[in-house]
Amino acid sequence: MDHRLKDFVCHGVNWAGLMPAVRSLFAGRATIIIFHEIQREFRSELETGTPVSLFEHSLNWLRRERWEIVSLEECLERVSRDDRSRRYAVLTFDDGYRDNVSVALPILERHNAPFLIYVPTGAPTRTLNAWWLGLRELIRSRDDVTVDAMDTRFHCADVQSKVSALARVTEWVHEDYRRAAMLALTFRKAGLSLSALNDRYFLDKKEIQALSRHPLASIGGHTTSHSALKILDSASARAEMADNRNYLQNLTQRPVRHLAYPYGNPRACGPREEQLASAVGFSTAVTTRPGHLDALPLDHFGLPRVFVESRIGFQAQMSGLQRAFHMLRGDAYRAGAAAGGSGTT
Ligand SMILES: [Zn+2]
Repeated sequence: MDHRLKDFVCHGVNWAGLMPAVRSLFAGRATIIIFHEIQREFRSELETGTPVSLFEHSLNWLRRERWEIVSLEECLERVSRDDRSRRYAVLTFDDGYRDNVSVALPILERHNAPFLIYVPTGAPTRTLNAWWLGLRELIRSRDDVTVDAMDTRFHCADVQSKVSALARVTEWVHEDYRRAAMLALTFRKAGLSLSALNDRYFLDKKEIQALSRHPLASIGGHTTSHSALKILDSASARAEMADNRNYLQNLTQRPVRHLAYPYGNPRACGPREEQLASAVGFSTAVTTRPGHLDALPLDHFGLPRVFVESRIGFQAQMSGLQRAFHMLRGDAYRAGAAAGGSGTT
C-alpha cells in the first residue's frame, strides 16, 4: 500500500473515531523508536533525519496518549513481567549526531525522557566512512553530480531533484553495502573531506563523555566502522562489536550494555550477528526491523524498532494501524526488511 493511500486511510480512521478500537486490537504494549539527526533545517539537509517540529510533536503525542517513556532496561523488565498497566516507549538515536545534544536534548529534558544513543567509534575519532554525509554534501553543493561507481550523472538544480538524486544513490548503496567504499573516488575528485563532515555533524569525545554522565542518557555500541556486519567474516564482525564496546567503556568509564547493528536490516545482520553480540557481552541489540515488543519471550538480540516519518505515519505505527494494514495484506509485519525512511541507519 503506498504512502498516500496509507495517509488517506489513517485520516479516515481518525475522522471516524475508530483509532481507539484499532489501538485495542493491534497496538503493541511497548515500542522502541529510532531517530537519527533532529534537524532545524530539514529542507536544506535534503529532508534527511527528523524535523525538530515532528520530533517535538511525537513526544507530545506520546504524553497525551499516556505512553510512558522509559529506559530500555525498564521497558524490557516491565514487558517481561507482563505489566499491562501502561504502554511504554523507548527513544533511541543512532550514530551520535551533534544535534541530538544541541536540538533534541533540551526537548528530552523538558519531557524528563530517558534516551539511548548508539555511537560508532569512527564518529568521535573522525574516521567514519560516513558516505551518507558525503553524498548529501556533494549533492547539496553542486547542480551536476557524477557518481563514478554508478556511471550516472545527476542534474539537480533544485531541492526536490537533489532529494531524489540522494534517494537514488542511497538506495543503490543499500542494495549492496560493499558499494559504500566505492564512493570514495567521487568524494576525492570533488575535494570532499569525510573527516571534516565527521567533525561538523558528529559529537566529539568530550561531548560523548559529558553526555554519558547526563541522568537521562545512556550510550550504546554501534560498531567501530559502521560496516554492514553480514558482509564481514566472523572474526571481523566480532572485533567490530567488541572493540567499539571497549572503546566506549574506556571513554565513558561506564558499562556499555546495548548495541544497534549498523543499517539493522536483514541484508546487514542476522542470526550470526545476534550470537556474536551476546558473546562479546552486550545484553541487547536492536535492528531496524519494524515491530513492537509484545511477543514473549522477547528476542533480546533482535529487537525491532519503528521510524517516525510523518505525524500521521507515527500515529499509525504506534496505534497498530500499520500492523493492521500488513495483516490485511497478509504479509509478515515482523519480517519486514525495510531500511526505513530516513535513508541510512
Ligand atoms: Zn547507524
